[in-house]
Amino acid sequence: MNKYEVLKHYFGYDAFRDGQEELIDSILSGKDTLGIMPTGAGKSICYQVPALLMDGITLVISPLISLMKDQVSSLNQAGVHAAFLNSSLTAGQYYKALEYARAGRYPIIYVAPERLVTGEFMDFALHTKISMVAVDEAHCVSQWGQDFRPSYLKIMEFIDMLPTRPVVAAFTATATREVRDDIIDILMLREPTVLTTGFDRPNLYFGVLAPKDKYAALTNYLEGHRGECGIIYCLTRKIVEEVTEKLQKDGYSVTRYHAGLSDHERRSNQDDFIYDRKDIIVATNAFGMGIDKSNVRYVVHYNMPKNMESYYQEAGRAGRDGEPSQCILLYGGQDVVTNQLFVENNQENQELDPVTLRFVMERNRERLKKMTFYCFTNECLRDYILRYFGEYGSNYCGNCSNCLSQFETVDVTDLAKVLIGCVESCRQRYGINVIIDTVHGANTAKIRNYHMDENPYYGQLAKVPAYKLRQVMNHLMMDDYLMATNDEYAIIKLTDKSGNVLNGEESIFMKMAREQERIPKEAKEKKTKAKAAGAASLNEQETALFERLRALRMETAKSEKVPPYIVFSDKTLVHMCLLKPATKEQMLKVSGVGELKYEKYGERFLNCVREMFPEGDETPAPL
Ligand code: ADP
Ligand code: ZN
Repeated sequence: MNKYEVLKHYFGYDAFRDGQEELIDSILSGKDTLGIMPTGAGKSICYQVPALLMDGITLVISPLISLMKDQVSSLNQAGVHAAFLNSSLTAGQYYKALEYARAGRYPIIYVAPERLVTGEFMDFALHTKISMVAVDEAHCVSQWGQDFRPSYLKIMEFIDMLPTRPVVAAFTATATREVRDDIIDILMLREPTVLTTGFDRPNLYFGVLAPKDKYAALTNYLEGHRGECGIIYCLTRKIVEEVTEKLQKDGYSVTRYHAGLSDHERRSNQDDFIYDRKDIIVATNAFGMGIDKSNVRYVVHYNMPKNMESYYQEAGRAGRDGEPSQCILLYGGQDVVTNQLFVENNQENQELDPVTLRFVMERNRERLKKMTFYCFTNECLRDYILRYFGEYGSNYCGNCSNCLSQFETVDVTDLAKVLIGCVESCRQRYGINVIIDTVHGANTAKIRNYHMDENPYYGQLAKVPAYKLRQVMNHLMMDDYLMATNDEYAIIKLTDKSGNVLNGEESIFMKMAREQERIPKEAKEKKTKAKAAGAASLNEQETALFERLRALRMETAKSEKVPPYIVFSDKTLVHMCLLKPATKEQMLKVSGVGELKYEKYGERFLNCVREMFPEGDETPAPL
């Protein structure tokens, strides 16, 4: 078999996606390889396909037990013998698996990094031909990354002990330069092929809302997405509890996930979501690594997360099947405060020396600032994300809340002059709230204490609504006409550019929404759009078929004890509804139906299609 045949036979796909083929070719030519691809781009195929073409065994190093389990059951479903070796196995199961591995039964074995250099495993590895070590979530080797795992450092130790050095391939979704360089250095990749595929996920819609009542905005959104699967991320366990409880009361099919629950409850709630028994999971960021449920139709952030890396990773769990999906962020000022507290009281870095600690905190504040700007920008959100990850977007994507909103460009030079003037006249001593309250003419104890009611700018912009002043203020900071210090007080300071505004050399224009009330209205518009896009372009009968196929999939999944998406993805079912296969050959044309899947389920699904469409694709005449 060649790589295309493997792709079709085992995975049922007709073509490689962007980047996959280059990475596979590199591995097959024996070169070390580093693939940097966003979540959902299809990293696993990049090592699974070569693994099936090389002789010898491929070891896949993966950080999470749930991830391994999922991948291995997917592979087994596709007819590939694969196994995992981690602490979830009993000693008996572990030895049995090793015995089979020795007998050459598995071309692919998933291993937890801490197992690698143990006696039994080494004994196995030294007497087997290991042709490739594939390191999944490779950013775990880097202290710069989000989730540094010391056990990942064992990988090089392990490779060093092998009699012949295998090809080393590493994969990650973290694109920053520091992490990339760390992966190459620490894993000691030899002249690797490094390939970064586009970080853009065109099927994802990005939206930011700043609703007064978050819960109302949430239910308003969910109303339009009944029956679809979604994740709602919250910043704290407490908020997870509150939101879950309210949603339950309001009759939603919902479960919860956070680190405060018992192992048992966490696992069972996660399974409820993965096996489509519950539509919605409300969770902290503890949820998601290694979840590759492909039919998540939306990810709502009930709070703003701490940085863009987290945001894009979490939001990216929507739409892994490539179908239109939505990523909505509900911003509230309190989110910034909560995140600032997290940054200042970070417990994770207790072992760091004071200098490094200060450096890490500084970096985290900077990241938080960039995240906040995402919530305030009136420019294309996708463009903002891509630029953050070092790519160039176009400044109009047509699929984000800013691109779809009506903005007008407004000259705010006069407002800017007053705001900057006020910062200057109070000798750059106060934070954003004091500045805004001053120009707005607020009569509060704080303003009186600071004598800001005697400031020449006091009350000069009393007629401009405070939210608008805040927008202008944020715009000035985003474009470096003002800056906030990077400490917990966030004092507003002048910059090199401030003077140009004060002396009239520069005018300031910004995009502003035509009407502030756009938020709920826009959410409603999106509902109808998403519905149409979600179930693809199926007509009424096809939709009915889709529902039947879905029920059949559920039944099948139950008897096979695997999640439904492992039987067939939503996308595959939709494709079936569109093609209406009547024969085996036609069924094999459906994206996601490989030979083995066909043997297992093909007939059953074919019959289900035939029942409704006996003539195949010939759409029955309307009655
Ligand atoms: P990642 O690990 O990069 O987040 P996965 O490897 O889990 O992504 O792949 C995401 C989804 O895309 C999976 O459902 C996978 O089966 C699917 N996929 C991968 N490659 C292809 C392809 N060439 N054609 C169609 N679907 C693909
Ligand atoms: Zn856009």
